[in-house]
Amino acid sequence: MSSSCSTVSQGREEGRKTPLPGPILLLGAPGVGKGTQAKELVKLWGIPQISTGDLLRANVAQGTELGRTAKEIMGRGELVPDSLVNEMVAVRLAQPDTAGGYILDGFPRTLVQAGWLDGRLAAQVTGLPVVAVSIKVDYNQLLRRITGRRNCPVCQSIYNVYGKPPQKEGFCDVDGAALAQRADDTEKVFEERMRAYEASTAPVVEHYRALGRFAEVDGDRPIAEIAAGIVAVVERLRQ
Ligand code: AMP
Repeated sequence: MSSSCSTVSQGREEGRKTPLPGPILLLGAPGVGKGTQAKELVKLWGIPQISTGDLLRANVAQGTELGRTAKEIMGRGELVPDSLVNEMVAVRLAQPDTAGGYILDGFPRTLVQAGWLDGRLAAQVTGLPVVAVSIKVDYNQLLRRITGRRNCPVCQSIYNVYGKPPQKEGFCDVDGAALAQRADDTEKVFEERMRAYEASTAPVVEHYRALGRFAEVDGDRPIAEIAAGIVAVVERLRQ
């Protein structure tokens, strides 16, 4: 294993050992804050966030063949077929910025996707195994987060009309752009997304738990505290 792939590298603070992040999976039900936490970890570790939801929405916006297929499925709150999502992730993982690690946000969401990712990582000669972190938040809190969520289409900042409102209602604090609401952030679609989560993604959580490369963090806390909790479990699992 080359030095760039050792499990421990010199940290930012003099003399402190910080584990290389490597591949990190952020798991959890819709609305637990995977995207928000991924952005915190990006700031901290300088590795890219790979959100399959964001990549799919970009395909929808660009009107690609994948986007045309995914649009209605996403609108119903169902999962896009594994083969399409895996292929999209494969293309993204082939980019050089993923070499030191990456945060997969919203992937894998099925056991087929998890098996595909495990196989891909196992086939690599160097590199760290995945660490999976699940964020937990109770159902009623999730519903509030989903229906209150607004995002800035320009800088991607995320707000919540209940928990984290912008200073000026409806507009981004950073760049003043009008905030948007995702088409699938309604109560009806949320219920279907929760069903898809329980049926297809909860088993993925159990898969990584059984592998011993898994930790769960409480997502009903301030953003910085949750991020610190994730960093702590990643450091522990990387030792
Ligand atoms: P998200 O932004 O992660 O909440 O994802 C929004 C929607 O995109 C989901 O409800 C699914 O329809 C689709 N999607 C995102 N990631 C995946 C995935 N890994 N597998 C299948 N569908 C996905």
